[in-house]
Parts: sequence; structure tokens; C-alpha cells
Amino acid sequence: MDCLFCKIIKGEIPSNKVYEDDMVYAFHDISPIAPVHFLVIPKEHISGAAAVTPENSAVIAHIFEVIAKVTAEMGLEGGYRVITNNGDDAGQTVKHLHFHVIGGKQLGWSSAQGD
Ligand code: 5GP
Ligand code: ZN
Repeated sequence: MDCLFCKIIKGEIPSNKVYEDDMVYAFHDISPIAPVHFLVIPKEHISGAAAVTPENSAVIAHIFEVIAKVTAEMGLEGGYRVITNNGDDAGQTVKHLHFHVIGGKQLGWSSAQGD
């Protein structure tokens, strides 16, 4: 399958790793929109939030455990935002489920709502 994030998980495309275990991979976004901007993805290919099912949803809970742990280690006590874009209307460019974790500054809300 020609999936960019599956290639990143396999190491076929280099990335700047934040965290990895048997279920998930986290890495810095190539075009950060804030001082902290990394992505957390399941190692299993799931095309997006709309493809989450009872059979594959356990990884979602694990992703949020990882986000809590990694952001604490990064010292983001002041807060951070977790976003997943699903589908073309949301601007999802990579069709492998990913959670953006954004922080390190006071975040506005207007861009998250869309223009
Ligand atoms: P989306 O727009 O699908 O929600 O988010 C895709 C994200 O992946 C974007 O923020 C984009 O900067 C990031 N991205 C795209 N290609 C690469 C890449 O090759 N490496 C890394 N680290 N991030 C990427
Ligand atoms: Zn994939």
C-alpha cells in the first residue's frame, strides 16, 4: 500500500521520533505550526477517524495514554491541543489516522474552527 505514514513506521522514509512502542509511533511534524507539533499514529493502517471500529478502537485509548505521558515529559503542563482531521472537508492530507499534538504557546481557536 502506498501510504506515507506506513513508510515512516517501517523506516523507509526518515522521521524525527518522539515515542514508539508495539502499537503506536509518534514523530515531529515536518511543518510545525507551533513550538511543539508532533503526530501520533497507530502502527496498524487505519485510514482516518471514520474508519475506527469496535475491532480496531483499542489503539485510540492507547494513543491518548501516550499523549498524556509524552506531553508530561515535555513539560507541557500549560496545556496542548489534540486534533485529528478526517476527510477532505477537514483537510486530511495523509489518509492514515493521525493525532496532531500542538502546544508550547498560547493557541488561538479560529484556525481550528476553520475559515
Ligand atoms: P493532515 O493535514 O492530514 O491532518 O496532517 C498531515 C500532517 O503530516 C501535516 O501536518 C504535514 O506537515 C505532515 N507531514 C506530511 N508529510 C510528512 C513527512 O514526510 N514527515 C513528517 N514528519 N510529517 C509530514
Ligand atoms: Zn498507512
